[in-house]
Amino acid sequence: MVPLIQALEKRSRPGLILVGLAVLVLIGIIDYLTGFEILFSVFYLLEVGLATWFVGRRFGVIMSILSVLVWIGGDMAAGAHYSRPFVPIWNAMILLVLYFIVVWLLASLRRLHDELENKVRERTLALTQEIAERSRLEKEILEVSEREQRRIGHDLHDSLCQHLTGTALAGQVLGEKLEARSLPEAAGARKIVELVESGITLARNLARGIYPVEMEAEGLMVAFEELAHNISTVSKVTCVFDCDPPVLIHDAAVATRVAKRPVGEVRELAESLVGVKDKIVSCGTCFNVTDQDPCRICADPARDGRLLCVVEEPNDLLAMERTGEYRGRYHVLQGALSPLDGIGPDDLKVRELLARLEANAVGEVILATNPNVEGEATALYLAKLLRPLGLRVTRIARGLPVGGDLEYADQVTLSKALEGRREIS
Ligand SMILES: [Zn+2]
Repeated sequence: MVPLIQALEKRSRPGLILVGLAVLVLIGIIDYLTGFEILFSVFYLLEVGLATWFVGRRFGVIMSILSVLVWIGGDMAAGAHYSRPFVPIWNAMILLVLYFIVVWLLASLRRLHDELENKVRERTLALTQEIAERSRLEKEILEVSEREQRRIGHDLHDSLCQHLTGTALAGQVLGEKLEARSLPEAAGARKIVELVESGITLARNLARGIYPVEMEAEGLMVAFEELAHNISTVSKVTCVFDCDPPVLIHDAAVATRVAKRPVGEVRELAESLVGVKDKIVSCGTCFNVTDQDPCRICADPARDGRLLCVVEEPNDLLAMERTGEYRGRYHVLQGALSPLDGIGPDDLKVRELLARLEANAVGEVILATNPNVEGEATALYLAKLLRPLGLRVTRIARGLPVGGDLEYADQVTLSKALEGRREIS
């Protein structure tokens, strides 16, 4: 029954009207064939009910009239005789009234049913929206709380631990002073330092507990990043921390946080730094800093050996390399002439430069010392020294700020300066 109702609900209105009329014709034929003595009005009622329910009140009324007409017509055709002509009209009227009452009742029921269904639909929609809004809010709250948790974790880890480390250091200094004076209070000071240190451990564990994952990942990865950064600034060698698979650190503040790491970690960092420093040597040919001798540039056969660029420091070499325009080789002087500081030619790799020029067929020497007083003096000195050797000696052009360092020049300025180099007089 339910599938039949569902199938009827899905049909279009004209389709339903056609079906209704077809069923009426069918019932009329059966009524006619069964004769006028068998009462058939109940089947008409079923037909009228379905028409009202699925199509509407108006169609129900039409079907009621049609049913009564078919019923009376069918019976008359089947040979029914009435004693008075008033009888069939009376019967038809009674039946019609009955059908109309059914139509009215069913139509009202249908309206109620539809209203109820609409309300249910509206309520469901509202409920779905409410649930979605709630889960969005929940997610937001979760994010905010996570962010707060992370912030508290960081604050605890950085600020408090940093403060405690400072306190421990101050205590240690005090203890040492007391010890130097052979005072008995030194033991007390040591005890305080120990207590503060265990406080640091407690605070760090607490911070890890509040936001465990990031603290752990950060502790290792960022320390390596910072190590690379420290090597770059302290040793003036470009050092990059490369990790496979890469651990992405989006927070720029993370790097600075490492500077505030507790003493133990800093010591480890310093030890790694010393380890790295041990591996760094000076190239025996060009005096660039490298981890292999000769360095990669000197060992590269694709480099133009007829071009030699003289720079002050390894950093300047790196700046020149960054332009990507220069394909010759280098000579690092490891400084510049500075009579005021007592730095003369013997303190620079000048003798080594002359030896290189003698041993190799170099066509042009580019003097790329810094465009400051010392750099200019060095360039002039070298130009005078090299010109008798029959070489082309050029100086990089003045696209660079006077008094500046090559290291800090942008790539475009530096490559323009290189392009515009000129013979030095
Ligand atoms: Zn080299």
